[in-house]
Amino acid sequence: MKEVGRHEAEDAVRKLLQYLEDDAEREGLEETPKRVIDSFDEIFAGYKQKPSEVLASTFNAEGYDGIVLLRDIEFYSTCEHHLQPFRGRAHIAYIPTDKIVGISKLARIVELHARRLQNQERITKSVVDDIVENLNPLGAGVIVEAKHGCMQCRGVSKQNAIMTTSAMRGVFFDKPEARSELMQLIRSKEL
Ligand SMILES: [Zn+2]
Repeated sequence: MKEVGRHEAEDAVRKLLQYLEDDAEREGLEETPKRVIDSFDEIFAGYKQKPSEVLASTFNAEGYDGIVLLRDIEFYSTCEHHLQPFRGRAHIAYIPTDKIVGISKLARIVELHARRLQNQERITKSVVDDIVENLNPLGAGVIVEAKHGCMQCRGVSKQNAIMTTSAMRGVFFDKPEARSELMQLIRSKEL
Protein backbone atom coordinates (compact mmCIF):
# COMPACT_ATOMS: atom_id res chain seq x y z
CA MET A 1 0.00 0.00 0.00
CA LYS A 2 1.78 3.14 1.21
CA GLU A 3 5.48 3.37 0.43
CA VAL A 4 6.32 5.60 3.37
CA GLY A 5 5.75 4.36 6.90
CA ARG A 6 5.06 6.21 10.11
CA HIS A 7 8.71 6.43 11.21
CA GLU A 8 9.90 7.81 7.90
CA ALA A 9 7.11 10.39 7.96
CA GLU A 10 8.15 11.51 11.46
CA ASP A 11 11.78 11.68 10.30
CA ALA A 12 10.73 13.91 7.43
CA VAL A 13 9.06 16.32 9.87
CA ARG A 14 12.22 16.25 12.01
CA LYS A 15 14.20 17.26 8.89
CA LEU A 16 11.82 20.18 8.29
CA LEU A 17 12.34 21.32 11.89
CA GLN A 18 16.10 21.23 11.31
CA TYR A 19 15.58 23.31 8.19
CA LEU A 20 13.75 25.92 10.27
CA GLU A 21 15.86 25.98 13.44
CA ASP A 22 19.46 25.38 14.40
CA ASP A 23 18.37 23.83 17.67
CA ALA A 24 15.67 21.48 16.47
CA GLU A 25 16.40 19.20 19.42
CA ARG A 26 15.03 21.57 22.04
CA GLU A 27 12.34 20.38 24.43
CA GLY A 28 9.36 22.08 22.82
CA LEU A 29 10.04 20.34 19.51
CA GLU A 30 10.85 16.91 20.89
CA GLU A 31 7.40 15.42 20.35
CA THR A 32 6.47 17.63 17.41
CA PRO A 33 7.15 15.06 14.64
CA LYS A 34 4.87 12.56 16.41
CA ARG A 35 2.17 15.19 16.99
CA VAL A 36 2.32 16.41 13.39
CA ILE A 37 1.84 12.91 11.99
CA ASP A 38 -0.94 12.22 14.55
CA SER A 39 -2.69 15.35 13.36
CA PHE A 40 -2.13 14.34 9.72
CA ASP A 41 -3.89 11.05 10.42
CA GLU A 42 -6.93 13.08 11.41
CA ILE A 43 -6.69 15.86 8.84
CA PHE A 44 -6.22 13.36 6.01
CA ALA A 45 -8.62 10.68 7.23
CA GLY A 46 -10.64 11.09 4.02
CA TYR A 47 -8.32 8.75 2.13
CA LYS A 48 -9.63 5.83 4.17
CA GLN A 49 -13.27 6.35 3.16
CA LYS A 50 -15.22 5.51 0.03
CA PRO A 51 -18.04 7.73 -1.30
CA SER A 52 -20.17 4.71 -2.22
CA GLU A 53 -20.02 3.51 1.40
CA VAL A 54 -20.83 6.93 2.84
CA LEU A 55 -23.85 7.31 0.54
CA ALA A 56 -24.97 3.68 0.78
CA SER A 57 -27.78 4.09 3.28
CA THR A 58 -30.67 5.49 1.27
CA PHE A 59 -34.41 5.63 1.87
CA ASN A 60 -37.45 5.60 -0.37
CA ALA A 61 -38.24 9.19 -1.39
CA GLU A 62 -41.99 8.37 -1.18
CA GLY A 63 -42.79 10.65 -4.08
CA TYR A 64 -40.95 13.71 -2.73
CA ASP A 65 -39.72 15.56 -5.80
CA GLY A 66 -38.65 18.96 -4.44
CA ILE A 67 -35.21 20.30 -3.64
CA VAL A 68 -33.30 18.77 -0.74
CA LEU A 69 -30.70 21.26 0.45
CA LEU A 70 -28.21 21.04 3.27
CA ARG A 71 -26.47 24.36 3.59
CA ASP A 72 -23.65 25.81 5.66
CA ILE A 73 -21.75 22.55 6.07
CA GLU A 74 -18.52 23.86 7.53
CA PHE A 75 -15.30 22.13 6.54
CA TYR A 76 -11.56 22.38 6.96
CA SER A 77 -9.21 21.24 4.23
CA THR A 78 -5.58 21.46 3.17
CA CYS A 79 -4.36 23.05 -0.03
CA GLU A 80 -2.28 20.64 -2.03
CA HIS A 81 -0.01 23.36 -3.38
CA HIS A 82 1.25 24.84 -0.10
CA LEU A 83 0.01 22.44 2.59
CA GLN A 84 -1.85 25.41 4.05
CA PRO A 85 -5.32 25.08 5.56
CA PHE A 86 -8.39 26.44 3.87
CA ARG A 87 -11.80 26.47 5.46
CA GLY A 88 -15.30 27.41 4.58
CA ARG A 89 -18.73 25.99 4.00
CA ALA A 90 -20.44 23.86 1.44
CA HIS A 91 -24.06 23.75 0.32
CA ILE A 92 -25.33 20.52 -1.23
CA ALA A 93 -28.63 20.19 -3.05
CA TYR A 94 -30.34 17.51 -5.05
CA ILE A 95 -33.78 16.65 -6.38
CA PRO A 96 -34.49 12.97 -5.74
CA THR A 97 -35.97 10.58 -8.24
CA ASP A 98 -36.66 7.58 -6.02
CA LYS A 99 -33.90 7.69 -3.38
CA ILE A 100 -33.07 10.09 -0.58
CA VAL A 101 -30.02 9.81 1.64
CA GLY A 102 -29.61 10.33 5.39
CA ILE A 103 -28.90 14.02 5.93
CA SER A 104 -25.69 13.48 7.92
CA LYS A 105 -24.27 11.60 4.95
CA LEU A 106 -24.25 14.82 2.95
CA ALA A 107 -22.00 16.36 5.59
CA ARG A 108 -19.87 13.22 5.65
CA ILE A 109 -19.28 13.31 1.91
CA VAL A 110 -17.90 16.85 2.28
CA GLU A 111 -15.62 15.63 5.09
CA LEU A 112 -14.41 12.71 2.98
CA HIS A 113 -13.15 15.03 0.26
CA ALA A 114 -12.05 17.90 2.52
CA ARG A 115 -9.85 15.59 4.56
CA ARG A 116 -7.45 14.99 1.73
CA LEU A 117 -4.87 17.12 -0.08
CA GLN A 118 -7.14 19.31 -2.12
CA ASN A 119 -8.08 22.29 -4.15
CA GLN A 120 -11.53 23.81 -3.77
CA GLU A 121 -12.57 23.12 -7.34
CA ARG A 122 -11.95 19.40 -6.94
CA ILE A 123 -13.93 19.20 -3.68
CA THR A 124 -16.87 20.90 -5.40
CA LYS A 125 -16.82 18.64 -8.43
CA SER A 126 -16.14 15.43 -6.47
CA VAL A 127 -19.08 16.00 -4.12
CA VAL A 128 -21.55 16.67 -6.93
CA ASP A 129 -20.28 13.69 -8.92
CA ASP A 130 -20.70 11.42 -5.88
CA ILE A 131 -24.28 12.62 -5.39
CA VAL A 132 -25.12 12.02 -9.06
CA GLU A 133 -23.47 8.62 -9.15
CA ASN A 134 -24.96 7.26 -5.95
CA LEU A 135 -28.44 8.86 -5.83
CA ASN A 136 -29.23 9.23 -9.51
CA PRO A 137 -31.11 12.51 -8.83
CA LEU A 138 -32.99 14.72 -11.26
CA GLY A 139 -30.46 17.39 -10.49
CA ALA A 140 -27.61 18.09 -8.08
CA GLY A 141 -25.76 21.24 -7.15
CA VAL A 142 -22.81 22.00 -4.90
CA ILE A 143 -21.57 25.44 -3.92
CA VAL A 144 -18.44 25.90 -1.84
CA GLU A 145 -17.21 29.13 -0.26
CA ALA A 146 -13.82 29.24 1.42
CA LYS A 147 -10.99 31.38 2.72
CA HIS A 148 -7.54 30.11 1.84
CA GLY A 149 -4.66 30.12 4.29
CA CYS A 150 -2.14 30.22 1.48
CA MET A 151 -3.58 33.60 0.48
CA GLN A 152 -4.01 34.89 4.04
CA CYS A 153 -0.58 34.30 5.50
CA ARG A 154 1.66 34.44 2.46
CA GLY A 155 1.75 35.69 -1.12
CA VAL A 156 -0.74 38.55 -1.61
CA SER A 157 -1.81 38.41 2.10
CA LYS A 158 -5.54 38.88 1.59
CA GLN A 159 -7.36 38.05 4.83
CA ASN A 160 -10.95 38.33 3.73
CA ALA A 161 -11.08 37.15 0.15
CA ILE A 162 -13.63 34.39 -0.24
CA MET A 163 -13.51 32.01 -3.16
CA THR A 164 -16.77 30.54 -4.42
CA THR A 165 -17.05 27.51 -6.66
CA SER A 166 -20.12 25.77 -7.95
CA ALA A 167 -20.96 22.63 -9.88
CA MET A 168 -24.44 22.02 -11.29
CA ARG A 169 -25.78 18.83 -12.83
CA GLY A 170 -29.09 17.75 -14.36
CA VAL A 171 -31.98 20.23 -13.99
CA PHE A 172 -29.84 22.68 -12.02
CA PHE A 173 -27.57 22.85 -15.06
CA ASP A 174 -30.30 22.76 -17.73
CA LYS A 175 -32.99 24.93 -16.16
CA PRO A 176 -32.30 28.50 -14.99
CA GLU A 177 -35.55 28.46 -12.92
CA ALA A 178 -34.39 25.45 -10.92
CA ARG A 179 -31.01 27.05 -10.37
CA SER A 180 -32.49 30.34 -9.20
CA GLU A 181 -34.86 28.55 -6.81
CA LEU A 182 -31.81 26.82 -5.35
CA MET A 183 -29.93 30.12 -4.99
CA GLN A 184 -32.90 31.64 -3.20
CA LEU A 185 -33.01 28.73 -0.74
CA ILE A 186 -29.29 29.02 -0.06
CA ARG A 187 -29.68 32.73 0.68
CA SER A 188 -32.78 32.28 2.88
CA LYS A 189 -32.67 33.57 6.47
CA GLU A 190 -31.32 31.86 9.54
CA LEU A 191 -33.74 29.68 11.51
ZN1 LIG B 1 -2.29 27.07 -1.62
